[in-house]
Amino acid sequence: MSKTLDRFSHRLSVVFGLVFGSSLNRAHAQNKLARHIVALNGKTSSSEIINEVADCLKGILGYRLFAFVNKKNAGVDVWLDPRMYKTSIEEVIIKDFQVKDTKDLTYLNIEKGREECLEQFGMDSLVHYDHKEENCYSRLYMMPSRPITKFHDDVVRIILQGCSAALSKQINIQRLQDAAAIDPLTGCCNRRAFEAQLKGHAASAGRHGKPLSVIMFDLDHFKAVNDTYGHLGGDEVLREVSRLVRRNIRTEDIFARYGGEEFIAILPETDQAHAIELADRLRQEILAFPIPFSNRLIRVTASFGVAQLGAAIDIEKLIEDADSMLYKAKFNGRNTVMPGLIKVHRDETSPSLIQTKRSLILQ
Ligand code: GH3
Ligand code: MG
Ligand code: MG
Repeated sequence: MSKTLDRFSHRLSVVFGLVFGSSLNRAHAQNKLARHIVALNGKTSSSEIINEVADCLKGILGYRLFAFVNKKNAGVDVWLDPRMYKTSIEEVIIKDFQVKDTKDLTYLNIEKGREECLEQFGMDSLVHYDHKEENCYSRLYMMPSRPITKFHDDVVRIILQGCSAALSKQINIQRLQDAAAIDPLTGCCNRRAFEAQLKGHAASAGRHGKPLSVIMFDLDHFKAVNDTYGHLGGDEVLREVSRLVRRNIRTEDIFARYGGEEFIAILPETDQAHAIELADRLRQEILAFPIPFSNRLIRVTASFGVAQLGAAIDIEKLIEDADSMLYKAKFNGRNTVMPGLIKVHRDETSPSLIQTKRSLILQ
C-alpha cells in the first residue's frame, strides 16, 4: 500500500504541472492540494480522511462534499455532510450501490436514527466521482457551486485518488487489528479483546465513580440445535443471535463471544437494574426471533446472568458473579434472567403522573 502512495505522490508532481499551468492562482491551489494530500497520509481513521477531503474541496474549489461512500468487501461505509438532508441522499446511495437494507449502511460521522436535518436540497445538481483501489470502491457525491471546468475536474480526481489510497491503507491496518480481536464466525469481539476492554472500562468506571455492569448469556440446549440442524445450522444461529444482540445494544457497549455458545456484554455507565431490564429485553428478542435455515425456522432461547462491578473494582469477581447468576438461570428452568425479574408498578393514586418504581425480586 505504501508503494501505491509513493507511486501516487510521484505522479502528483507531473499531474500538477499539467493541471495547474503557470497562473498564480493555480500555483496557490497546487500548494494547498499538496498540503491536503500530505495530511491525508497522516490520518488514522476513515472519518478524518474524508473530513480532510471535504476541507480540500471547500478550500480549493468552494464545493461542498455531500457524501462519501466506500464499498468494502462487506457493507458500505457512508460519510455524510452533517448539515444535509439524509433521506434524499440515502435513497441515491441505496440505488447506486444496490444496498438491500439500510441496516447495511454504516454511518462514519453521524448517529444512526438521528433526526432529519436541517437543510434540504434538490438532488438534481448532485455529481459523483468514482475511484477503485485494490480493496475498496469509493464514490464521492458533490454539489458544485458552478459548472465544473477541466481544472476542477482534475482537482477532484487527484484528491479522490489520494483519499482512496489513504482509505485503502487504513482498511488493511483495520483488517490486521480485527484479525487479532474479532471472532470470525460472529464478527463480535473475541474473548481476548473482551478481557482487554473490560480492564479499561472497569478502571475508567472506578476513576469516574460510574456504574458498570455485564450481561453474560448462554444459548439453551444448543447441543440439540446442532443435533437437529447440523453444525452449519448451529453456526447460523450463533451468527444471527449475535447480530440481533448487536442491533439492540448501544454502540458504546462491548459485545463479545465468550466461548462456544456463550456471549458477554460490557455495559458502561449502566447499573444492575438497567442491565437486568436490557437482558430481559434481549431474552424476549431472542425468544421471538425465528432464524431461517435451509427452508426451516430455528427457534432458540437463552439464559442470562447479570452483575454489576463492585466498589473494589474486582473484575474477576464481576465475571464470577455473572457466571453464577447464569448458572442459576439455567437451574431455574432456562430462558430467564438472574438476578431478578423486574416488576414495574404504576402509582395508581396519581395515574396522570408516569411514576414507576422498580423492585427487584432478588434471589
Ligand atoms: P445448556 O442449556 O445447559 O446450555 O445446554 P447446551 O446444550 O447449550 O450446552 P452444552 O454445553 O451441553 O452444549 C453446547 C454445545 O455448543 C456443544 C458444542 O458442540 C456447541 N458449540 C460450541 N461452539 C460451537 C460453534 O462454534 N458452532 C456450533 N455449531 N456449535 C458449537
Ligand atoms: Mg448452552
Ligand atoms: Mg455453554
